[in-house]
Amino acid sequence: MLKNILATALVATIGFSATQEVNIYSHRHYDTDKQLYKMFEKNTGIKVNIVKAKANELINRLESEGKNSPADILITSDAGRLYLAQEKGLLQTINSKILNEAVPENLRQKNGYWFALTKRARVIVYNKDKVNPSELSTYEDLTSPKFKGKVLIRKASNIYNQSLLASMIAHDGEKNAKAWAKGMVNNFARTPKGSDRDQMKAVAANVGDVAVVNTYYVGKLLNSKKTSEVKVGEKMGVFFPNQNDRGAHINISGAGVAKYSKNKENAVKLLEFLVSPKAQGMFAEANYEYPVNKNVKPSALLESWGTFKEDTLDLEELGKNNAKAVKIFNEVNWK
Ligand code: FE
Repeated sequence: MLKNILATALVATIGFSATQEVNIYSHRHYDTDKQLYKMFEKNTGIKVNIVKAKANELINRLESEGKNSPADILITSDAGRLYLAQEKGLLQTINSKILNEAVPENLRQKNGYWFALTKRARVIVYNKDKVNPSELSTYEDLTSPKFKGKVLIRKASNIYNQSLLASMIAHDGEKNAKAWAKGMVNNFARTPKGSDRDQMKAVAANVGDVAVVNTYYVGKLLNSKKTSEVKVGEKMGVFFPNQNDRGAHINISGAGVAKYSKNKENAVKLLEFLVSPKAQGMFAEANYEYPVNKNVKPSALLESWGTFKEDTLDLEELGKNNAKAVKIFNEVNWK
């Protein structure tokens, strides 16, 4: 009898350890992420499985799978999307001392629904041959007459722009945010199209003088395999706006634990690993992003751009004001 119980317990233990895994739904698609997951597997024996797709597809999938979803972790590259997943009831709260200590308060959801893994700043870049950085100051100033026909930025459907405008709504109210969006449209060098990288290519090709882009895309150009892209990167100056007031707009790549996670403990372990100094260095360096863990230095390239004042707005505001931002873009005819 006792033998049987022990045998059953043993089988249960082996069975359990053999199926130790964690399933990630991720919008990130970098080789370094893969290396990090390998390291985690080696350290813990927990197998990491990844499904990669666009954030909205992953959110829809989580929603339709409901309780049967195999997902343990959702990773996105924007706080607005994490907030959307949270609002749809697709995430659960996590209480981890390690996560709370490694991730600054404004970069995590206060109940523990999600946590930043990396930071990115949305900044002004300029053509070094044509613009003196002393002519630059704030996002708001890009609407002044001196930039008429010189401003490049991507479409209104882009989540980074939606989050930037959402931050302005949070800081200055809808009326001022709308005036800014309208002023930007007035100063566009062309109808918005393409990626952040394409905006910089247009600056280099003299379509306009300045662009609003995420910092890591400058890094991607400078480290591109194509010499033409490296040349574009070399022409760009990086300017951190709003240094005398709220600071440059910050967004994140971040993660939350899925509501119906079957491997919650493993999921928390993985998130804790991803904010550890070792992982943070690699995680951020891979995509030229800023680490969230303040004990970790950014890469040499990022350090060469200098330190800057960050907007410390609670990132939940980006999600909360997303619908208003989309509405304003529509109203001012930002394509
Ligand atoms: Fe991006």
